[in-house]
Amino acid sequence: MNKPAPDWHAAASALRIDGRAFVGGRRVAAASGETFAKSSPIDGRRLADIARGQAPDIDAAVASARAAFADARWAGKAPAARKKTLQRFAEKILAAKDELALLESLDMGKPVQYSLAVDVASTARTIAWYAEAVDKIYDEIAPTPASALALITREPMGVIGAVVPWNYPMIMAAWKLGPALAAGNCVVLKPSEKSPLTALRLAELAVEAGLPEGVFNVVPGFGHEAGEALALHMDVDAIGFTGSTRVGRKMLEYAGRSNLKRVYNELGGKSAFVVFDDFEDIARAAKTVAGSMFFNQGESCNAPSRVFVHETVADEFLAVVAAEAPKYAPGDPLSGHAEMGALVDETQMRTVLGYIDAGHGDGAKLVTGGKRSRSETGGFYVEPTVFTGVSNQMKIAREEIFGPVMSVIRFKTEAEAIAMANDSSYGLQASVWSHNINRAHRVARALRAGTVHVNQYDEDDITVPFGGYKQSGNGRDKSLHAFDKYTELKTTWLRIDAA
Ligand code: NAD
Repeated sequence: MNKPAPDWHAAASALRIDGRAFVGGRRVAAASGETFAKSSPIDGRRLADIARGQAPDIDAAVASARAAFADARWAGKAPAARKKTLQRFAEKILAAKDELALLESLDMGKPVQYSLAVDVASTARTIAWYAEAVDKIYDEIAPTPASALALITREPMGVIGAVVPWNYPMIMAAWKLGPALAAGNCVVLKPSEKSPLTALRLAELAVEAGLPEGVFNVVPGFGHEAGEALALHMDVDAIGFTGSTRVGRKMLEYAGRSNLKRVYNELGGKSAFVVFDDFEDIARAAKTVAGSMFFNQGESCNAPSRVFVHETVADEFLAVVAAEAPKYAPGDPLSGHAEMGALVDETQMRTVLGYIDAGHGDGAKLVTGGKRSRSETGGFYVEPTVFTGVSNQMKIAREEIFGPVMSVIRFKTEAEAIAMANDSSYGLQASVWSHNINRAHRVARALRAGTVHVNQYDEDDITVPFGGYKQSGNGRDKSLHAFDKYTELKTTWLRIDAA
């Protein structure tokens, strides 16, 4: 018999949330004793007081991570033992799935059934996948003359600072944690001040799973305090950052001003979705773009927010998008069946509404949406919004909105479509829709983006790298390539004397 769906509202009322940091294997208040209030964008309810981590708290967490690295309590374990611990961590995440899903939804507003099916599931899979990799990766021996042996080995880097955004709080943390821990590093994670709750629980679950104390620490706090202190720290070896391009720039400056720590930036996007008239199922393309654009309230780095459609099929395409978009109208994120939830906070809602005003001001034509909704709840919701008559130079086509706003732009030729798609400071993802195999390959090659989809937009898996060209970043999360970020490459020469 299937387990009945939880009563999420009742579960939310019963929650008691501990907002203290997690350092050296235990919960601790901020050294200053200061906290900040965290409320839910769903309805404004107060969730918890969160430790306001600052430089002394980061110092303590980095010292704890450094001590754990120095005595090799984690890196020194046999790979098979590290694998087992990380597998148990993944199991613990799944065992706590309802609680984690609820925390994620309350914290940042997404529909709880998606927190469960996507965020929790993907977090557990990420940790389990990197766990499996631990004892399956071999190093290299170089083809040298017989008089010498050259070993090329990967070693853990040391202390990794992870700074993550609020849109997929657990998944973004797991994309750093999985490879960093599997490689034997120790981690200090600074979650977003807008969504710190699941990161704190993940740290507890990791220790329950057997991860030694000090290997994984979490310091919540603001970017300009805890985030800056971590990125400037002289004893942090690398920063794995996911967030805005604006802060990514700062991360590079902080490294330059401190110890030249490695900086891996996973930044914003303004992904192009290019539909040619030879694609045979325009309705499928239109339904896909609506689903991908409005998933997670449009708060996805890879949301296909610039949609280029050949002029001969644009009306047909728009008619389907206009019919689809209202199906994503925001609902109660704890109902278990809302397609869209709340934006992360009032500031983000005001930003999104400001972009909608800019679209009107620049002369774009509103197809559907465009307004705040559900304001009576005390939460921050915006309707799924579609503009047409957009030019690629308008503000809504150039800047990342990070909300449920799609811009549709018509084109006449393949060359024009490629030029407009690439005319962006971002290069995270793109897609091409065509049933002409030559065109599909040609355009996929020409699009300057870290991931290009052909005739779909939904495929994703931990087995493939994720990251961007241009100002969308430099590192790659996910897949075995992520190990490159958290390991040093060492060459060891040995002389072999003749007999
Ligand atoms: P943000 O850059 O404002 O914040 C990200 C993190 O950086 C937060 O933890 C924040 O506290 C911290 N931070 C802010 N200012 C800082 C400073 N001066 N020094 C150190 N740390 C600081 O981004 P956000 O609003 O949380 O997230 C949205 C952005 O993240 C979007 O641009 C989105 O595209 C991007 N994102 C990218 C990917 C990817 O994989 N490329 C994935 C998810 C989100």
